[in-house]
Formats: sequence, C-alpha cells, structure tokens
Amino acid sequence: MYRALKLANKGEVPVGAIIVQDDICIAEGWNQPIACCDPTAHAEIIALRQAAKQVNNYRLINATLYVTLEPCIMCAGAIIQARIKRVVLVLMMRKPELLAVVLIFCEILGIIIRWSA
Ligand SMILES: [Zn+2]
Repeated sequence: MYRALKLANKGEVPVGAIIVQDDICIAEGWNQPIACCDPTAHAEIIALRQAAKQVNNYRLINATLYVTLEPCIMCAGAIIQARIKRVVLVLMMRKPELLAVVLIFCEILGIIIRWSA
C-alpha cells in the first residue's frame, strides 16, 4: 500500500496502483495521460498491462490490485477483464458516487464485492 501511495505522487492526477501476485509486486503504474498523450494511461491500466506482460497472460487470476483512488468505469472494466481477484482502495474515497457507479457496473457482471476495514 505504501508503494501505491508513493507512486501516486509521480503522476498528474495523483493516482498510483500496484499489482501483487503470490506476495510479489509484479507491476506498478501511475497516472500519465498528459505525459503519454494517451487518455487511457490511468494508473490501473498501466499496471494491468505491465502485470499481463510479466506473467505472459491477460488473466491475472490470483492478483490483488492496490490503488489510491476508486477506479473509473474504464479501469473497472479492465480489472474485470483481467479477472483481478481483489481490489484494495488505499485511501478514503473522495467521490463516493463514482464508486457506487463502479459497484453497480461490477454487480451487473456478477462480481462478488466484499468490504473490509
Ligand atoms: Zn481509470
């Protein structure tokens, strides 16, 4: 979690993400849409791409994504496509209404959502 928070300070909108599998950090990312001239260069997307290359598989079945902000709809879709096992929000939500949209989106696709403190 500390690493994700540190990565958040590298980006434009301060968001950092890391992906852990089998207790090993296999990928990390931070927001870079402006620097990369890429509207999809969100922290989660960058980390997902790096993780998929790392394990040579687009499915990240037993992976956990730690992210410093609730995922947007684009990232939530990518997380679902990657079959990420667990998403951990590192910070308090600044925009709970956005998370509600993401949760609804996930529920439609049959994802089980668990909350823990
Ligand atoms: Zn996003």
